[in-house]
Amino acid sequence: MKRILRLVCEVLFPPHCAVCDKLMAPDPQKETPALCRTCAPLWSREIARSCSRCQQPFHECRCVLPHMKRRGIVAHVKMAPYHDEEEASATRRIILSIKDRADRRVFRFLAEELAPGVRAAVKSAEEREIREGHAPCRTVISFLPRSKRTAARVGFDQAQELARALSWQLGYPCLSLLKRVRDGVPQKLLSREARVENLKGAFAPLSSAKGLRVLLVDDLVTTGAGMAEAADTLDADEIVAVSIGFTEKKKEK
Ligand SMILES: [Zn+2]
Ligand SMILES: [Zn+2]
Repeated sequence: MKRILRLVCEVLFPPHCAVCDKLMAPDPQKETPALCRTCAPLWSREIARSCSRCQQPFHECRCVLPHMKRRGIVAHVKMAPYHDEEEASATRRIILSIKDRADRRVFRFLAEELAPGVRAAVKSAEEREIREGHAPCRTVISFLPRSKRTAARVGFDQAQELARALSWQLGYPCLSLLKRVRDGVPQKLLSREARVENLKGAFAPLSSAKGLRVLLVDDLVTTGAGMAEAADTLDADEIVAVSIGFTEKKKEK
């Protein structure tokens, strides 16, 4: 019955590949994957690329940018490198596509991909807390909200959708802990230094995160200015950043 229902859904709303947008033929036997046969190996190759600092594959790297660390972020779970100029990159195309298309299948796929890394990061944090002699703090998921204007224009907030999908995968509650109080100019137009300035005071807390470990979700971390500002706004006990893409710069201050 469930299979028939799924097939009917896929025939009525045919699934598209999350990378190339190609229409995919529903398979009566199993659910259509998020990526087509051409794009799936591309994605696998990108997530296997390694971080230049820890030499781990990207999806196992936990490196945190120094200025994010200073704001209390203890680990950064990510999937793949993102570079705006790499137009053929599967990671870049997925991130661009989720901004305009609220495709639950794609958010679920991304959450499934992120889940093992996030689970491992939480486990090591809990083990550390036990070693240090205190009970592990409660883990929740939150996200960097878009401005109301942007969310209204697009119809949804992709960071929130990703956070919700991750919450469903991992079983941690998804809370709206932050609101965006100031829009600023689009980050894309700004230099690295100007981005930090532009985001100052951009967020306000909606509720206290005291005693919590917050998995702070965004689709993409480039300079880390947004994550750092959001982390600064939260009064959480611990913050783990989670993103699909990460723009690795050669030199970091
Ligand atoms: Zn494709
Ligand atoms: Zn690393």
